[in-house]
Amino acid sequence: MKPSLPLSALVAALALAGCSASSAPSGNAAAPATTAADDSATTCKSGITLQLLGSGGPISDDARASSGAVVWIDGKARLLIDAGGGTYLRYGQAGARLEDLDFIGISHFHTDHVADLPAILKGAYFLSGRHDVALVGPSGNANFPSMTAFFDREFGRGHGAFEYLAGLSGGTDGLQLSVHPSDVNVASPVATRVWQGDGVTISAFGIPHGDVPALAYRIETPKGVMVLSADQNGSRKGFVDFAKGADLLMMPAAIDDDADAQSRFLHATPTVVGKIAAEINPKMLVLDHFMGRALKDKDKNVATIQRYYHGPVYAGRDLSCFPLSH
Ligand SMILES: [Zn+2]
Ligand SMILES: [Zn+2]
Repeated sequence: MKPSLPLSALVAALALAGCSASSAPSGNAAAPATTAADDSATTCKSGITLQLLGSGGPISDDARASSGAVVWIDGKARLLIDAGGGTYLRYGQAGARLEDLDFIGISHFHTDHVADLPAILKGAYFLSGRHDVALVGPSGNANFPSMTAFFDREFGRGHGAFEYLAGLSGGTDGLQLSVHPSDVNVASPVATRVWQGDGVTISAFGIPHGDVPALAYRIETPKGVMVLSADQNGSRKGFVDFAKGADLLMMPAAIDDDADAQSRFLHATPTVVGKIAAEINPKMLVLDHFMGRALKDKDKNVATIQRYYHGPVYAGRDLSCFPLSH
């Protein structure tokens, strides 16, 4: 592995991100989406590339889609991590195709990470051939379902909210996807391997998001390693070990350093994000999960992160692409 990304990879990331750490926070998803999607047709689809679908949070004041990303592998969007509100539209704009999808990883069951999952899966009525998709998510607790319970409450025959899509569990009733849900114990002290194929290995590890069971995903590929963290407060030491060796680390930039205690119970402040990134020391740090206020204070928060982490920081936007490259 080379010590740094080739210039071409960084340029591509910069061009499609539409911003560096010091860029103005004004450009959001609404206006440039078409341009970004057009660009993605040539750049995102080559090699192994992370493409954000949504870079916003749970409140619509950021005018961005909520959390979600695809990983392109040799021209196909094979992996989907999270499917928050708005990602259904961005999935189409990115040019991702359901027939290419092998793996869906859900971080947790807040709406900004999973609300568009039924909308995306509904497309299974219209595929030309049947195939299997792994659907992985966290174990549950008293307040949140597990992945398997969520799937059952959404699509369970006889009781699911979207019972008309019950055929997703076996690829029947005209649905061409056979979806295989499974749970990862968020309390497991070691990472859980959840998918493997074509030289790519995915593992999941519990992250502390208040009282919400949540997972981060580590995606090891022939071109490098991505670690995608969803919402977390940064207090679990094991996350740094889980993420060690990452070429690309994605962390949420949800709150400011002066956020209230409840927000800090759920989310990491810029100082915490900076310290975690410094310990992991990836070749690039991608920020997502901006909320209205976090967008306004983006430059300040990025500067705080850069006090600790000295590699390149990219403030992601909807449809931004970040290629991996040896
Ligand atoms: Zn959350
Ligand atoms: Zn969230």
